[in-house]
Amino acid sequence: MNFHIMTLFPEMVMQGLNTSIIGRAMDKGLISIEAVNIRDYAFNKHNKVDDYIYGGGAGMLMQAEPVYLCYEAIEKRIEENRSGPEFFTENRNNDKDNNKKCRVVYLTPQGEVFTQKKAQELAGEDDLILLCGHYEGIDERVLEEIVTDNISIGDYVLTGGELPAMILVDAVSRLVPGVLNNEVSAEFESFQDGLLEYPQYSRPEIWHDKRVPEVLLSGHHANVEKWRHEKALERTRERRPDLYDKFIAQ
Ligand code: SAM
Repeated sequence: MNFHIMTLFPEMVMQGLNTSIIGRAMDKGLISIEAVNIRDYAFNKHNKVDDYIYGGGAGMLMQAEPVYLCYEAIEKRIEENRSGPEFFTENRNNDKDNNKKCRVVYLTPQGEVFTQKKAQELAGEDDLILLCGHYEGIDERVLEEIVTDNISIGDYVLTGGELPAMILVDAVSRLVPGVLNNEVSAEFESFQDGLLEYPQYSRPEIWHDKRVPEVLLSGHHANVEKWRHEKALERTRERRPDLYDKFIAQ
């Protein structure tokens, strides 16, 4: 799967993603991540990409044209790669229509709130373009032309879309086959079945006078599963009553 991130701060994005599991997935060619600098598509000699907002008000807005030119360049490259012998990564879905325009996600506090379900849906794409805003955001006209999905990472306002984009790439990448060593670990996690995950323990058996629950040492698989399910229900009811009610109503 290939991520194409449109940003004014490519180093920030690449430094944040180029480590640990996601870094290894890139090295193995399971995913590719490119951060494209929107400033490279500025159409004036000062490389300026922002301007005052019509109608007044504080702050600056990212202009439509550099964002559009950046998008066009990425889209063209994706099309060329699709018609060529190989995609960027080996994880391509051969059933896909190679002429289809790829999804463009604008990270914005005005979008639908990002969930594990959305991450699963996006993990089915071969290419994903992510657009990071800055300052007061981006000229509405270019958003109307290129954006297919508006996604927020929560009801608060950040200075830019880079951290939200990194969060999305991380959450989606770990669902790409082969990225996690142990595929089962994604299967039983929080949200996967609508519940939060049960508490977990590692060695030693006793730490600060706290014992690992006896049932987990018993080796009795059915009892362990039963305990975990009960704890998942209990934890979800306590910490996320909204999710619990939804789960019970299913
Ligand atoms: N004026 C905009 C508004 O009220 O909706 C907020 C602009 S914000 C200061 C600058 C950029 O940060 C946005 O264009 C967006 O890309 C990003 N951003 C801020 N908060 C976000 C959130 N909760 N989720 C996703 N992106 C966010």
